[in-house]
Amino acid sequence: MKNKLRDFLTTKMKMSGPYQPVIIKCLLENNGEASLDIIAKELASKDPEAIQYYKDKLKVHPKQVLKNHEIANLEKDCYKFADDILFSDDEKLELIKIASNKAEEYYTKNPFSDFARHGWGNLRHKMITEHPYCALCGAKPSPEIMLDIDHIIPVSRGGSDEPFNLQVLCHRCNRGKGNDLIKSAVDAHDDYKNHQEDCIFCNIEKNRIEFQNEYIFVIQDKYPVTQGHTLVLPKRHVTSALMLTDIEMISIFHESKKISDKLEQEDYSIEGFNLGFNVGKTAGQTVFHVHFHIIPRRKNDVTDPTGGIRNIIPGKGKY
Ligand code: AMP
Ligand code: ZN
Repeated sequence: MKNKLRDFLTTKMKMSGPYQPVIIKCLLENNGEASLDIIAKELASKDPEAIQYYKDKLKVHPKQVLKNHEIANLEKDCYKFADDILFSDDEKLELIKIASNKAEEYYTKNPFSDFARHGWGNLRHKMITEHPYCALCGAKPSPEIMLDIDHIIPVSRGGSDEPFNLQVLCHRCNRGKGNDLIKSAVDAHDDYKNHQEDCIFCNIEKNRIEFQNEYIFVIQDKYPVTQGHTLVLPKRHVTSALMLTDIEMISIFHESKKISDKLEQEDYSIEGFNLGFNVGKTAGQTVFHVHFHIIPRRKNDVTDPTGGIRNIIPGKGKY
């Protein structure tokens, strides 16, 4: 067991976080038995807010690897060495040193990772405060729904721990996502079944849908401002564009680019577009299921187009 442990620490152990060496260090320091509480505190020693986060991680993340290598098992919220081993003080110190160095090596090799810089818990707290809903399904935190942060591009696919590669996800989306870049939130979430009986866009005739994916659909505006006026809408019934999730927003804009390209290719008279949302009655919104307007523009469709969207207030087009 001792050689196996040394061998594991020095050669076999692959780290995508400091968990394994820290667990082993704690086991060595605590006579072969260390509660999640102890290990999480060790991990979070620079970051007290992270204790719960690390406890959750420790229950899932390194458990199987340490079990497969017959190093340690997790039983009832407590990691234990797989065998009963007695170490001399010297042996223990030597292995603790190796484990500490290994954890340190992780932090040194990843100096820009937020793990190393702030501790995951602080970053999690900061991101969830700034973005208090799931980026995929829009769920807000509740007793049933916990928000967490995770990588957009998984680490196993080369993603970094930098904030630009992190997103806020609810546990349901995060659990189902695995290593996929984007998880389908649609089936898992009641919000997507939030069909409003009295909403014209929730009840649009199927044959009027020109394109759809999991998040959005496209229809022709029934009362077009100009020929080709197209609407891109989230499938979820939400009233305001400001309530769209990141993935809905990306889907809408991604699709709008394709639609605009197609319109331009099919109609050479189109030379530009007005793209946009009306948000709220005061701003002119008349249908309260979000829709993104794609309004093609042609030369001389108005006498003077200067200012475009600025003309929502008559006379303010020019400045
Ligand atoms: P807004 O003022 O931004 O809420 O825009 C509502 C848009 O929905 C207008 O451009 C309308 O022409 C369009 N609209 C209203 N009813 C329908 C309908 N049944 N099908 C398609 N578009 C519609
Ligand atoms: Zn609706």
